[in-house]
Order: sequence, then structure tokens, then C-alpha cells
Amino acid sequence: SFHKSKGQHILKNPLLVDSIVQKAGIRTTDIILEIGPGTGNLTKKLLDAGKSVVAVELDPRMVLELQRRFQGTPYHHRLKVINGDVLKTDLPFFDICVANIPYQISSPLVFKLLSHQPAFRCAVIMFQREFAMRLVAQPGDPLYCRLSANAQLRARVTHLLKVGKNNFRPPPKVDSSVVRIEPRKPAPDTKLVREFDGLMRICFNRKNKTLGSIFKQKPVISMVEKNYRTLQAVGQSLGKVTMDGFDFGDTEEELRMDDGDDNEDEMEMDDTDSSVGGVSEFKTKVMNVLKEGDFEDKRSSKLTQQEFLYLLSLFNKAGIHFT
Ligand code: SAM
Repeated sequence: SFHKSKGQHILKNPLLVDSIVQKAGIRTTDIILEIGPGTGNLTKKLLDAGKSVVAVELDPRMVLELQRRFQGTPYHHRLKVINGDVLKTDLPFFDICVANIPYQISSPLVFKLLSHQPAFRCAVIMFQREFAMRLVAQPGDPLYCRLSANAQLRARVTHLLKVGKNNFRPPPKVDSSVVRIEPRKPAPDTKLVREFDGLMRICFNRKNKTLGSIFKQKPVISMVEKNYRTLQAVGQSLGKVTMDGFDFGDTEEELRMDDGDDNEDEMEMDDTDSSVGGVSEFKTKVMNVLKEGDFEDKRSSKLTQQEFLYLLSLFNKAGIHFT
């Protein structure tokens, strides 16, 4: 019997498995990482295509079944199975990752893979359709979000294949899609990646509002200011401040997708200034940065990677940071 909580939906359609393996562009010299091999339907074809497979599987029963399946076959010595949670496992070197994963680990897994060094050539992964569409979404697409911007800062992401529920047993509730993720080389540095996400948390909290109105919100301005003051105090070389008390998690963003054309005025009401009798000095500083790059009336839903990076550079130039 299968564990729903472990996302165990086994690929039953051999033609689909062939198609995934073929689209992955595996070379005979490749060390392949597979996540969640389950009973090994994909694993076998990966072993046919590449040099060796490292498979990380959480469920010890599946690990046993997998080992039994390849025991005494020529595949056996080219397969290494690691029993564990992929999110908590130190991953070995691999050239390429091919996987039909449990969907609940999608987001942390993508960013774990993107942080892996040395960078792999590409990852071909099955995701829930909605997640896949958010990963590949471009500025102006309805699903363009913090996930799209962060992933695409670090990788080229392309949609490869739509996969219906009935290719799995038991069938999941949602449709799926296979996506290719190719890390950008050289990888953007860790500090930039973290800071870019800090900015994306703010910008995509309400992606259809103008940046001007987002940065006028009191919780936003006071958090950015607090971070600014701390950095000023400790000196930027030691600057490592968390944005505590202001956590826009993924889930919040998911729930709040596309709330249409927001009423700008409603925000102005809780837009009280910290200084008496006027606009705070820090708020003016922030607004000047937005004006300098002509960002005040722009909305995140339409901004490209390059525009966000430019905005970040303007903030940084003014001594304002998001980590
Ligand atoms: N690859 C197989 C296939 O395509 O038929 C099975 C895919 S099934 C969607 C997901 C597999 O991932 C299950 O075997 C499950 O036990 C395993 N799994 C779930 N959570 C995991 C985790 N955190 N780390 C590693 N494997 C996990």
C-alpha cells in the first residue's frame, strides 16, 4: 500500500517514463541524481541511459523493494540508494537530476538543488502543474511571482511536458508538468541571491500594487528602516540582520495570488508617518530611490529580472539592504 503523506504516486505509463528520460538529454557518462525512486520504474531507464544513479528515498520499504529489484542484475553496482529525506541529505556530486518527486517538497528542493556546488548541468523534474507554471512564469503572466523571480535569477527554467493524473497510480488530485532547470553559470553570489529574495518578499507581497504604495506601508518602511539602522550601526561588513516579524512566506503569497486591481487609496489610510508633522526622512530616502529608477508607479507583476536587479542596485547605492 502507498503512503499518501509521502506523496507516493508511481509512474505507470512506460511511454511517459521514456519520454522524460529522452527529454532529459542524459549522456552515457552522466552521474544521475534521482529523488524518490519509489519502486524504480524511472530508475531502471536512468541506469540504461547514464553511467550511474544515486537515488535518495525516504521510505525504507521502498528502499528494500528497489534493492530487491536490481539485486543480481548488471544494474546493481551502478545504483547507490540513500535512505533518507532528500532535504536533510548532503547530496553527492551529480551531472543531472531526474525525478518524480513528492509535491510537498517542491519549493525547498528547487532551492536546495540551486545551492548545490558544483552546479549540475540540468534537472528534469515532475511538479504539480500549478507550481510548474509559477516556476516558468514571465513578467506579465498571471502566475508570475516571487518563486518565478527567485528561480529565474539562478536558472533558466522551461516547461517540457504536461502530464495528466492518470499516468500515476494512485492518481493524484492535481495535474502535473515536467520542467527543465538549468543553473546559470557562473552562479550569482550567495549574498546577492539572499538580498534579491529579501526584495522579492516585499515586492510580491502585493504584486499588483505599485512599488510606490508598497514601500509606503508602515510595516514595510519600518522593517527596511530597522535593517538600515542596524547595518549603519554595526558597519556593513558585519551586516547580517534577519527580517524578523515580517515574514511573507510562500504560502501567504500563494493564497493571495492575483487579487486584481487593488484600490490604492485603501493603503494610504494606515500610512501613518513615524515623524511628527510630515514624511519621515527615511521614507523620503526610499521614495527617492524609487523615483531615481522611475519605479514608483511600476508593479512587480510586470517587472523583469533586470529591472529588479537595477532596483536592488539603486537601493544598495543608497545604503539600503534586504538581508
Ligand atoms: N519515482 C517513482 C515513480 O515515478 O514511480 C515514485 C515517485 S513518488 C511521486 C515519490 C517518492 O518519493 C516516493 O517513493 C516517496 O516515498 C519518496 N519521498 C517522499 N518524501 C521524500 C523525501 N523527503 N526525500 C526522499 N524521498 C521522498
